[in-house]
Amino acid sequence: MRFNSHLAGGIGAGLVCAFTAELFNYTSVSTDMVADLISNPFSPNKDIIILSGVFFIAVFMALFPDLDSASVLQRWFYRLVFLCLVVLFIGDQMGLFAAITFISLLPVLHKHRGWTHSPVTPFILAVFIIIIVELQASSTRWFNGFSLQDIWESAKNNWIYIFACVLGHYSHLALDKRL
Ligand SMILES: [Zn+2]
Repeated sequence: MRFNSHLAGGIGAGLVCAFTAELFNYTSVSTDMVADLISNPFSPNKDIIILSGVFFIAVFMALFPDLDSASVLQRWFYRLVFLCLVVLFIGDQMGLFAAITFISLLPVLHKHRGWTHSPVTPFILAVFIIIIVELQASSTRWFNGFSLQDIWESAKNNWIYIFACVLGHYSHLALDKRL
């Protein structure tokens, strides 16, 4: 499948995820929220950050599998990753910095349509990100070390992001007829 089809699939999956977040009371959309965003576009409230977060994760995961071959998409992806890393480094978000560094290298480690097109990939990626972020967080806090319980708690609290990761990725597999 071509880039445009996967982008459309990702946008569809992203809208479903945003709707799911609202349906399960993860967010509460109101008309105030929209007015607030228009008057304050550079300081969005928590709900807008969550909704755009799940939307972009789904779109990203719909495009992620085809980053395993040299293309215009791949070049733009690495430009974007570079920019993200600069912003995270300046913002001292070292857990996310490490997670994105690891993940951005993963697509090029294997052949085209290799592991990136496996149905277990989004689950492994989600757990991997949670472990890296938790490991980094536990190394800088003095009162509580790293534990598997924290991983489980973090996965439970962030299920909507895991859902977005899986749905976006599965939209790609469905369009490639690999489900
Ligand atoms: Zn593909």
